[in-house]
Amino acid sequence: MKEIVEVAVGLPLYKTFHYRIPEKMKSSLQVGMRVLVPFKDRKVTGFTIDLLDQPPKGIEEKLREVDNLLDGAPLIDLQMLRFYRWISDYYLYPLGEVVKTGLPPGLHLKSEMILSLTQDGIESLTKGGLDPIQERIFREIERCGKVTLKKMLKIFPGETSRSQLFAWKRKGLVNIAAGVEGKDVRPKFEKFVQYCGGGFAKPIPRKQAEVLNWLEEKGEVPYSELGRRFKSSSKAVQSLQAKGLVTICSREVCRDLSIRSELKAYPRPELTSDQEGILVEILKGIHSRRFSPFLIHGVTGSGKTEIYLRAIEEVLAQGREAIVLVPEISLTPQLLSRFEDRFGKNLALLHSGLGKGERYDQWRKIWKGEVKTAMGARSAIFAPFKNVGIIIVDEEHDPSYKQEEKLKYHARDLAVVRAKQVEATLLLGSATPSLESFYNAEKGKFHLLHLPERIEGRPLPRVEVVDMKGEEGLLSGKLKASLQKNIEEKKQSLIFLNRRGFANFILCPECGLTFKCPNCSVTLTYHLRDRSLQCHYCDYRIPAPGDCPKCEGHRLRGMGIGTERLEQEIKRLFPDIRVERMDRDTTSRKHSHLQILKRLESGNIDILVGTQMIVKGHDFPNVTFVGVASADTSLSFPDFRSSERTFQLLTQVAGRAGRGKTFGEVVIQTFNPDHYSILKAKDHDFVGFYQEEIQFRRALEYPPFSRLINFRLVGNSEKRTKVMAEEMGRIGQSLLKRGHGKGIEILGPSAAPFAKMRGKYRWQMLAKGKRSQLLHQFARELAAKLEAQIKGKGVNLDIDVDPVFIL
Ligand SMILES: [Zn+2]
Ligand SMILES: [Zn+2]
Repeated sequence: MKEIVEVAVGLPLYKTFHYRIPEKMKSSLQVGMRVLVPFKDRKVTGFTIDLLDQPPKGIEEKLREVDNLLDGAPLIDLQMLRFYRWISDYYLYPLGEVVKTGLPPGLHLKSEMILSLTQDGIESLTKGGLDPIQERIFREIERCGKVTLKKMLKIFPGETSRSQLFAWKRKGLVNIAAGVEGKDVRPKFEKFVQYCGGGFAKPIPRKQAEVLNWLEEKGEVPYSELGRRFKSSSKAVQSLQAKGLVTICSREVCRDLSIRSELKAYPRPELTSDQEGILVEILKGIHSRRFSPFLIHGVTGSGKTEIYLRAIEEVLAQGREAIVLVPEISLTPQLLSRFEDRFGKNLALLHSGLGKGERYDQWRKIWKGEVKTAMGARSAIFAPFKNVGIIIVDEEHDPSYKQEEKLKYHARDLAVVRAKQVEATLLLGSATPSLESFYNAEKGKFHLLHLPERIEGRPLPRVEVVDMKGEEGLLSGKLKASLQKNIEEKKQSLIFLNRRGFANFILCPECGLTFKCPNCSVTLTYHLRDRSLQCHYCDYRIPAPGDCPKCEGHRLRGMGIGTERLEQEIKRLFPDIRVERMDRDTTSRKHSHLQILKRLESGNIDILVGTQMIVKGHDFPNVTFVGVASADTSLSFPDFRSSERTFQLLTQVAGRAGRGKTFGEVVIQTFNPDHYSILKAKDHDFVGFYQEEIQFRRALEYPPFSRLINFRLVGNSEKRTKVMAEEMGRIGQSLLKRGHGKGIEILGPSAAPFAKMRGKYRWQMLAKGKRSQLLHQFARELAAKLEAQIKGKGVNLDIDVDPVFIL
């Protein structure tokens, strides 16, 4: 029997902690379970990561006991624990927090300070004579029985404080103890009524007989359904149960998913010879049961999805499991229905569009082994399968695979790591692979497979680039003429603009005033529908002013266009045509995204205007024209990947045109008609783009020729954040001088590209190096030294590691 357990607590701490295992838990406690443990003056949740015979040297006396065991069975197995350890090491993120990220939301528990009145406290209320505020607070505690400290501070802001409440505790009036708020999501149980058969000697009353007949026909029904069907059925059921004719049982049920596909079914297609060819290669990998990484470079519409489906079928036939990652936005009903058609109930879905309970149920189905395929956005990489045979990452280049908050993991990179750890096949697919992946393929680390043609030999659309320098208005003559022609031919069109709202910003031409977000260093976007100015980063909004608040001028003007303005302009040009818009503003309600796509599919929309939401995953044969209103928004973004991003967006959006039997046409408007990312997109020339871009990366030593770690300091005070950033620079330089970190180059510290975001000031420093191990070593040393400096100063260090090359 083990005596000691090592616990990774769910707190931002790198260290793990040891606890004694109480006698009563010795037979049940295993690695991978959640426990409640004492931590300073609180109790916190943690994950058990190792069991030991005796405590590590030198800390025997200090060890405290595990308080409570929260699970009956491990939530993570050793394989997943190994995966989580890797992530924690690589992204420099506490293990407990990493495990938390991988579990469905709402599963971990948080301990809270819980208040209640003592006997003396209650008596002080009955005696009276308390000061009015204290009396109100005590009454509230009495009314609640037990209440969290947090909630009390919220109910009485400014009237009480933490220290006041603790002062009452010292006087013996109030109890304050650490406890667990039971917010855990739980399995959902439902009552069922079952027909037992057999007869009953005496005649049965009419009502009971009716119910019984119906149950005989159905076999088993949910109790609630019975209630809907028969008035006051509960009495009848009780009597039937007493007679032994029916039984009532309670069973775990799965919460219904809010996405369900209702679109057209896909028949299983014949494979083209190209598809056959690459499937043969992939099957070899699957049969080898070794780590087999593939990159499928397939033009848009070349039939990658069918390859995925066939590969999964093979893995399932081996008795192993499959994980499919898709970008959040492309988890469309179309894609879903294809997977459901093929795998039916053997499919779990994991993405942020599901409610907490729904997500938990889907996770449990995987965990219990009830399904063999999981599909979802980036978090699906944590699907708790035990025997993964294949991991597929569709649109592997998509930026939504990177989590930008907290644990800044890249799901594609984690797919590579997990597939390698469990000896699985890895399929990365894209029409526009990321530079990193294509470079890996060139170096022979990924096996490169090509799908150079669209299925049924459909041609790629013809793309024309229009230089907007010679044009007036939002839409060029060329784009207008093409739209007109498409309308006359009764075809559908998409117009893409990667910016929502009406005007990008408002300017007073008399005094030059623009409206900035007080919380972020960005201008506010004008929205016509509710006449507001909004920040797209923090959701700050104000009513749009009529006159300039500074000079009282009357000529406030919107500059730069957004989708709202574009939609208005197109409606003005083509008044008799059905125009709709798809962006975050028009799809905030549940299912509204799906409804727009349905109207497009059924031909009830002639022109759809939208942001990158319209770019992905959809396959509408009657869409034959795509217009790009401005290719310049992504090009001007302050990031070394902006050219790559532009090329990807343009290629993907162009790929929406002409997926049916008719030839497709694309018009791209830009002020940079000679930029290589636009010219190569025009020619559908990924390899050509790659060759230009890789030269630029090599020259500047950007990934994939180096690795980057961004150290970002985020703080409430502008001055203190800057001072700490300077300190960070000094620590970095001194580490380099002392020979820590060979070949590492430091850029900065400097104010971040968006120097203020959601009210916080941001400074950053980049470290660039060729060798991952050295760079990580440097990062750990820097973080440790810096953490000591910034402790208690209201400044936080945020580390972003980019990208992973583990092979
Ligand atoms: Zn003005
Ligand atoms: Zn803002």
